[in-house]
Amino acid sequence: MATHYKTQGFVFKKEDWREADRVFSVFTLDFGKIEVLARAVRKITSKLRGGIDIFSLSDIEFIQGKHQKTLIDAVVIEKFSHIFQSSEEMEIANRVSGLLEMFIRGPQTDGRIWDLLADFFKKLDRQELSASRQQLLYHYFAWNFISLLGHGPQLFTCAACTKPLQLPELYFSNKEGGVICGACALLEAGVKKVHPDSIKTLRIMLKKDWDILAKLKLAAEYQKELDGILQQYCRYLLSDYSFNRPNHEYF
Ligand SMILES: [Zn+2]
Repeated sequence: MATHYKTQGFVFKKEDWREADRVFSVFTLDFGKIEVLARAVRKITSKLRGGIDIFSLSDIEFIQGKHQKTLIDAVVIEKFSHIFQSSEEMEIANRVSGLLEMFIRGPQTDGRIWDLLADFFKKLDRQELSASRQQLLYHYFAWNFISLLGHGPQLFTCAACTKPLQLPELYFSNKEGGVICGACALLEAGVKKVHPDSIKTLRIMLKKDWDILAKLKLAAEYQKELDGILQQYCRYLLSDYSFNRPNHEYF
């Protein structure tokens, strides 16, 4: 006999399946990341239709079958509808969904990731953020998410030799997982020099100090630099993960 389960979850991805079905990816409170099949949900008459959608928090009930989880009931608790009105916000939300898709492997629960997601969706949905603040919010999520997975970058002493860092000789090493000094940078091919302001911003992000971040004036070139570091670091980390990645680029 199939077993029934009830939980809450952030719906972060949807994919149409067959004629009228849809598969939702949900980060749940009790089961971590799951995929759940919503049968006939694309039909107008579907009773599930109004209860679940991408970028919402929903109460869901599903049956665990032999091969898949099938949704039997769903009620929206909160729909982050502002996101749908802005293509920029939509893009940021999709990038976060890409991170969840790629970095979370199994159905492990994690209250800290749950809290971070709740924080992210509320900030993106409710605060009127400029395009550059939205980018910072993405970074805020991404760096803290990576940290919660155990890959937080070392930012205070050289990640290779542990000596104090000397300004302005700062480099980011994917291999060492953080900032390294000028001497260590000479020993590693392909490390990039980073501006102290980028590192300062990273430290504020990892302290989760959004109030300071939201007011921070970060020059476009450092924001670009941070983007590059994040992209490279994610690629490096994912090359270690033994599961299939989606074809398209998310970061
Ligand atoms: Zn060093």
